[in-house]
Amino acid sequence: SKGTISILGLGAMGSAIAARLRETGYTTTVWNRTPAKTQPHVQAGANAAATIAEAVQSGDIVIAVLLDHASIHENLEPAAAELKGKVLVNVTTTTPNEARATAAWAAEHGITYLDGAIMAVPQMIGGAGSRLLYSGDENAYAIARPALETLGTAEYEGTDAGLASLKDMALLTAMYTMFTGVLQAAAMMRTVGVPAVQTAQDVTAWLNAVVPLAAPTVAVVDTGDYDPAPGQNVDFTNAAVTSLITAAREQGISAAHLEPLKRQLDELAATGRGTADWTSVIEQLTINR
Ligand code: NDP
Repeated sequence: SKGTISILGLGAMGSAIAARLRETGYTTTVWNRTPAKTQPHVQAGANAAATIAEAVQSGDIVIAVLLDHASIHENLEPAAAELKGKVLVNVTTTTPNEARATAAWAAEHGITYLDGAIMAVPQMIGGAGSRLLYSGDENAYAIARPALETLGTAEYEGTDAGLASLKDMALLTAMYTMFTGVLQAAAMMRTVGVPAVQTAQDVTAWLNAVVPLAAPTVAVVDTGDYDPAPGQNVDFTNAAVTSLITAAREQGISAAHLEPLKRQLDELAATGRGTADWTSVIEQLTINR
């Protein structure tokens, strides 16, 4: 065996993680609130523990994959004494501040804490494209890294435990915004009988062509030299977005997702920044510094 790891939580994700660790040569101890879910793992060679306290005693590394922040604290706080001196890797999805709160709790109890965020679905664990982000205690990362690398590419973001979650949330924000755009396009095209899947395919081809422009387009944000615009300016973009809103409404489609952008562009234009780069809308997103 390469070592002993305890996995807390055998939902879709916890099960995939436990199976992968076992298949790559780790001895695993599994715990799940609903004990029946440990059975297939036991049949495949895992040890099952009846309580978290028992589960964490048999491994130096503990990986928690529960539902959310509340379920982590509800279940781990009673086992703080047993977790002392262990490396706790929490890959449950939480917000950055929740991750920081768990890190502070772990530090109080002598638990070496690493927070994680999983950029993969369960079927991807251990396969190509699986990517996991980590932040928190550097030593915890060094110790757990060989095991974590069996799950997917491991990226360490820094000692602030909230960083992995922050990046996770940022990437998911971009994804949801993009898919919202796909839905908006599909709603427009559906008015003339085009199936959503066909529009999604058209959008995919278009996005594949323009996504490489994302980094060069936002380069100006890092310099802050918005005016004169190195790229499309506020007035130009405002005209384009106005057309998109008008076209949606003409088809009987709401432009609710585009209107906030239009308001930001209007505000920039009204304050004399029509010739500035349109990406300066990012400055309006920052509501407190
Ligand atoms: P599932 O719904 O499949 O499993 C949830 C797990 O959490 C189960 O083991 C469940 O136990 C346990 N659980 C829920 N509430 C409690 C509680 N109050 N006390 C104890 N255990 C509890 O979810 P996933 O496995 O898919 O997700 C787990 C985590 O991984 C989540 O934070 C999710 O955001 C994250 N994740 C999931 C991805 C995915 O594609 N699935 C992708 C990236 C991250 P029980 O069996 O008893 O119900």
